[in-house]
Amino acid sequence: MNIADLKRNIDIDEIGRQMHKLMSELYPICRSITGEGFRQTQNILKQHIPLEIHAIPSGTEVFDWTVPKEWNIKNAYLKNSKGEKIIDFKKSNLHVVNYSMAVNRKMLLKELQEHLFTLPEHPDWIPYRTSYYKENWGFCLSHNDFLKLKEDTYEVVIDSTLEEGHLNYGEYHIQGQNSEEVLISTHACHPSLCNDNLSGVVLSTFLAKCISSITPRYSYRFLFIPGAIGSIVWLCLNEHKVSNIKHGLVVACVGDRGSFIYKRSRRGDAEIDQAVVNVLRTSGSDYKIIDFSPYGYDERNYCSTGFNLPVGSLTRSTHSQFPQYHSSADNFDVVRHQYLAESFEKYLSVIYVLENNRKYLNLKPKGEVQLGKRGLYEMMGGLQRRPIDEMPLLWVLNMSDGKHSLLDISDRSGLDFDLIKNAADVLLDHKLLREVS
Ligand code: ZN
Repeated sequence: MNIADLKRNIDIDEIGRQMHKLMSELYPICRSITGEGFRQTQNILKQHIPLEIHAIPSGTEVFDWTVPKEWNIKNAYLKNSKGEKIIDFKKSNLHVVNYSMAVNRKMLLKELQEHLFTLPEHPDWIPYRTSYYKENWGFCLSHNDFLKLKEDTYEVVIDSTLEEGHLNYGEYHIQGQNSEEVLISTHACHPSLCNDNLSGVVLSTFLAKCISSITPRYSYRFLFIPGAIGSIVWLCLNEHKVSNIKHGLVVACVGDRGSFIYKRSRRGDAEIDQAVVNVLRTSGSDYKIIDFSPYGYDERNYCSTGFNLPVGSLTRSTHSQFPQYHSSADNFDVVRHQYLAESFEKYLSVIYVLENNRKYLNLKPKGEVQLGKRGLYEMMGGLQRRPIDEMPLLWVLNMSDGKHSLLDISDRSGLDFDLIKNAADVLLDHKLLREVS
């Protein structure tokens, strides 16, 4: 099976439902950039795709960073002097500042308050906070619950460990017909948050599963990494492989109803940039294209000046651009299987374009080729408008000078990539074209 058959036969709605189901399975796990929750997540993904799980020891130097100690947590709560639990980690893992060090003591509200975080503008939501690189502790709670706290002596327990261990990441390499690679990278380190970024995790998993069912032209490398530090680790340990990366996408926030946003690579004019913009332009969905900036997700490392890889990021509502971002409200009310399915379809279309984008040479470039004698032309003369099917043929013949790709022709003509690709196939059958790259 090739990518065209795959695209034609796939049940996108069913894939959306399966992604949503996997998300429900992953949602309760308390993940972080290291630790048991991250490993447990990778092991669940392994039931779908043969992930290789790497383990990098704490303390390993990676460019300007050091792999942090491993964080694990068993339990955490806050009790008032009557012994009532005010905050319970077992009800929501967002209640504890991710990477909190262990605490077990009593304290007055005044001292405790410095370690409490709320979202006053959304008083029912629990914020998501982290303290990866500064040893600290804290609780997150709804602002309404915070306002109910009285002067009292509180029992503060965080049963966590921060010690030498490992940072893990998952990697799945699919060998294609050539060694040039498409990199698909997603951060898998957030706890119970759906759009950011379980949506990216489940989309990448099912995309990998689909691509593994065909023999693609490119090789594909899927990374499931802890955000920021994970891409630094991978780049540092795999610098010798980086030159194989021909195209790349960072997958995040693909499960909400927001319009699509494509953030260009730092290069701005890479083939991946052209492919994603082409797919969005012809998809009928609302979208926005934004230029690269050195902020956001792991593209900031892939596109750092020492690498400058052709890696963009296709999201829906992106980080901090949806109100529920990094809060308990980023849940199953935000993410729907239909939105996941729609995003999946966009990613698959981008891959279809990458797999089929080629340059050809018109073998009869002098004057217009006589399509009629080859049965490729409407034989009736004098028509005011040419039937639309001929236009892709004429565009491909006209622009196939060995320099313009099918994507260039699609962009210039305004015709769907698929029509242009099919026209090229017909012309190849009639020996009117030769592939140049
Ligand atoms: Zn995030």
